Amino acid sequence: MRRLSRLLAGVLLLASTLAADRPSVGRGNTPEVLRATARITEEVIRAHTKFLASDLLEGRGPATRGDSLAETYIQSQMEAMGVKPGAPGGGWIQKVPLVGVKASFSAPAVFRSGRGSAEGVPGDPMLSSEAVVYTAHHDHFGIKAGPRPEDDAIYNGAIDNASGVASILSVARAFADLRRPPRRSVYFAFVAGEEQGLLGSQYFAMHPPVPVGRIAANINIDEANWFGKTRDISLIGLGKSSLDRDVIAVAKTQGRAVKPDEFPDRGRFYRSDQFNFAKAGVPAAYLKFGTDVIGKPAGYGKEQVEAYEKNTYHQPSDEYRDGLDFSGAVQDARLAFLLGRRVANADAMPVWTKGDEFEAARKKAVDAIKPR
Ligand SMILES: [Zn+2]
Repeated sequence: MRRLSRLLAGVLLLASTLAADRPSVGRGNTPEVLRATARITEEVIRAHTKFLASDLLEGRGPATRGDSLAETYIQSQMEAMGVKPGAPGGGWIQKVPLVGVKASFSAPAVFRSGRGSAEGVPGDPMLSSEAVVYTAHHDHFGIKAGPRPEDDAIYNGAIDNASGVASILSVARAFADLRRPPRRSVYFAFVAGEEQGLLGSQYFAMHPPVPVGRIAANINIDEANWFGKTRDISLIGLGKSSLDRDVIAVAKTQGRAVKPDEFPDRGRFYRSDQFNFAKAGVPAAYLKFGTDVIGKPAGYGKEQVEAYEKNTYHQPSDEYRDGLDFSGAVQDARLAFLLGRRVANADAMPVWTKGDEFEAARKKAVDAIKPR
């Protein structure tokens, strides 16, 4: 009897959370899409982050047992959602030769790539051969001596990038929940070797499961918001492609503003996995947390980011804590879901802004698949 009443309390709590959350699910969408969007919750992002960043995974160093555990976990989660394997060749894994980085890297399993529940709507053969590819890197630095004597030597990478993997897993769950799949296929690529120079995504972009000219867009998350809901979101690379309009339209349904990189001196467009897609010609959206935090004084968000960069980024202290606030990560993951769905259903693929540095690469990739 006692157990039953506890369970009921849990259900009621969930219902009230969803009700309070309405705006961030994206006004103006169909009930089915709203329902799928509402499946992206703080609990989901927290649970994935907590596991992936635990000491058990030993910092997910490339080609280590800890990183293999992370890959196995990600694969299990996708299998449980009903996502199908989508690596080239048909499995879950794309093996990536990491030659010249470190002898021990040899050829481990590196990618977890899955085709979404989306197999393409019958009667839409052209669009179903095209794809939207989500990425988040699962690797971090493993175990090595930290900069301070009190450090525990495990580089847990909770924010970087357990939180991004958690966010993309939550997006996959929302897609898996849709009864009507989008017109284009949706892939979730959990890439490795990012911290060693974007190696996994480079290999993936050069050996993709669909011709690169048919990849409509890449949506990447590297570090999710840990400091609360925001009125804004940053699109790193704003101005570079027609994805601007899509991000702005989706953000508007959440009542949020889209901003360019707030730390432009960091060169961030060229420093995470979306860069390899862009180099191959694929329009890419690198979504980064906003800093205009609801309920906090002006400047609070930027302070959080600067303190993280100083004390936590690429240090053993990037650990999971119960105090991390993933309510903003939920907003951003929901935006990523609605953005990918919008791009996957659009009549035409996104295009680079005229004169952009990656426009020529796109033309080459698209020309390569044109029937002669
Ligand atoms: Zn990262």
